[in-house]
Amino acid sequence: MKTIIESMKEKNDKIAKKLKDRRLFNRIYVWEKDPVLPDVDVDTGLERLVKLVPKNYFNNIDTIFIGQFPELSKRNLNALYQDNAIYVSNMIMDTSEFMKNIVHELAHAVHDEYCDLVDENDAVMNEFFVKRRQLKKILHLNGYNVENQNFENLEYDQNFDTYLYQEIGYPIMHTLTINLFVSPYAATSYKEYFANGFEHYYLNDFTSVKQVSPKLFSLLTKIESIE
Ligand SMILES: [Zn+2]
Repeated sequence: MKTIIESMKEKNDKIAKKLKDRRLFNRIYVWEKDPVLPDVDVDTGLERLVKLVPKNYFNNIDTIFIGQFPELSKRNLNALYQDNAIYVSNMIMDTSEFMKNIVHELAHAVHDEYCDLVDENDAVMNEFFVKRRQLKKILHLNGYNVENQNFENLEYDQNFDTYLYQEIGYPIMHTLTINLFVSPYAATSYKEYFANGFEHYYLNDFTSVKQVSPKLFSLLTKIESIE
């Protein structure tokens, strides 16, 4: 039978193992500053991820930070891409959410690197623009006030984000825009439209991106073909 000291030591070893030095592709430093929740397996998540997403998409990433960071808490975010690093909160519930957050931020890195290289980008912007106009119509027809919002601004706007997320609410957004956006967050801005589509394309929902956002789908296919 183990003594209390022995089992405590075992527990500490486990924690030390969990916080071990990780490197993705022998290059990207993965720093788990604060321990993740029990249902998150960082190693498994990262292993799965590199099989799903092209390796060159990580070219611009040099660090993945996991934990509590002012960059996240200041803006109340779960994850963020900034200065060649991906920040992810350690308070994420499970491995698939962890993967989803990394893929989403990776999308922003890929967008920065590749979008100007392909002609399809303009077509996708236009696709998003048309969808925003349709969204305005749908919301108006369903009795929502659309007068105080600028649906034609494709950049991120905190006020518009709050309007969709809180005033309309994502469950209603989901029902009303099922054929317009892969998921409600895609309506937030052009960059989020891209990142949301990217996320679904690589993680769970290849066909719905093709059906709902065909131009975005061909942009993603095109970017994938760039070596
Ligand atoms: Zn985003």
